Amino acid sequence: MALPGGSIHGLLNHLFRSCLRAEQSVLRALGLEPLSAVPALAIQTPSSFPPAASDAHDNDHTPSFLDSIFWMAAPKSRRTIEVNRCRRRNPNKLIKVKENIDMCPECGHLKLKHVLCGFCYAKVSHETIQIRAAIKAKEGGPFNASTVETVVLYQGEKPRAEDTEKRIIERSRKRPSWFSY
Ligand SMILES: [Zn+2]
Repeated sequence: MALPGGSIHGLLNHLFRSCLRAEQSVLRALGLEPLSAVPALAIQTPSSFPPAASDAHDNDHTPSFLDSIFWMAAPKSRRTIEVNRCRRRNPNKLIKVKENIDMCPECGHLKLKHVLCGFCYAKVSHETIQIRAAIKAKEGGPFNASTVETVVLYQGEKPRAEDTEKRIIERSRKRPSWFSY
């Protein structure tokens, strides 16, 4: 027999209610109170069980799931865009304009007034390394340092009269403008 699902559901519901009614009438006839539709939650414990020592404390502070959350400060109200921009564009927070930038008189690069020019320093450092290499090649090893003064001569230069006694290092290039003789 094929019945629609709604008819089966209604039939089962009707049967369940009629059974419930019959049970309640039998209980009334026996002098017992019928059970309520919603059973109350009850936990059966032995009456001799001693009360826990922390019961009084638990009444003061009921543990909650909120206790396990780490709360952080949060803004209570929105700050306007004007307030935010006044803070961000405050003159005290802006990068200061540098006034101590100057041009290197030797090479023309920009540099700070109170420091050496980095480009000129690199040039001098490179030439110093070359002169030291030439001195090392002339000495031929350690502990051969000469006891007289050293003079560096560049391309097309002749030693002066007072330089004849000194050690002469020759460089095969034109004398740089920053290295006076
Ligand atoms: Zn320079």
